[in-house]
Amino acid sequence: MKKLIAGNWKMNGSLAANEALVKGMLEGLGTAAPKSDMALCVPAPYLAQLGALLQGSPIAWGSQDVSSQEQGAYTGEVSASMLRDFGCRYAIVGHSERRQYHGETDAVVAEKARAALAKGITPIVCVGETLAEREAGQTEEVVKRQLAAVIHLCGHCITEIVVAYEPVWAIGTGKTATPQEAQQVHAVLRAQIAAATQSPGRVHILYGGSMNAANAASLLAQPDIDGGLIGGASLKAPDFLQIVASAP
Ligand code: 13P
Repeated sequence: MKKLIAGNWKMNGSLAANEALVKGMLEGLGTAAPKSDMALCVPAPYLAQLGALLQGSPIAWGSQDVSSQEQGAYTGEVSASMLRDFGCRYAIVGHSERRQYHGETDAVVAEKARAALAKGITPIVCVGETLAEREAGQTEEVVKRQLAAVIHLCGHCITEIVVAYEPVWAIGTGKTATPQEAQQVHAVLRAQIAAATQSPGRVHILYGGSMNAANAASLLAQPDIDGGLIGGASLKAPDFLQIVASAP
């Protein structure tokens, strides 16, 4: 299975900056097939631009959130079918910044994952513990609880999701989980998914949190790390391409 390297631009970009960044990535890729599958999850207003720039390229695109509702009086929300209209393959759900600043609960995150799946969009379900939770020895309990909510609601469709393990203390801090620390949690999540499905299909479990060109190779070499969800380093074409090329 190919690794998946997904960029999360967060609330960054402009029409001009996006064009330069994407063109830099496409030029850097050249004509050879990339070593990893690639995706860029961008602010919703730029999905049309990304679709136009990436159409026919090896880079898929997606959103950073999706509504749990299908349609109607939900001011400010963007539905999964709208994302479909713009060619999204992925939607990040349950990013820790959404959980922290927008009060998203495990149950809401699970509903968002289900809404995406219902429209054929692959949810990238983020889980991860805070520093206080890690120090209290609760890491496994927290990530299992977060994933269990999605397994509960999505049932056998769980094989269609992507999971991203993002320790909150490693996001944007320059502090990365060591490959061993990350692998340990990934193995727990892998076992949880295996127990919930009878399918032999392998779910991608990505690592996220200060992953960069320098540390990507050692993280991606771990047996249960199937790729990365990249914040800051996805805003620089050479760094992002270096991560893509770091797959073993
Ligand atoms: P950084 O790579 O900037 O630490 O962000 C990780 C992240 O939150 C990706 O979703």
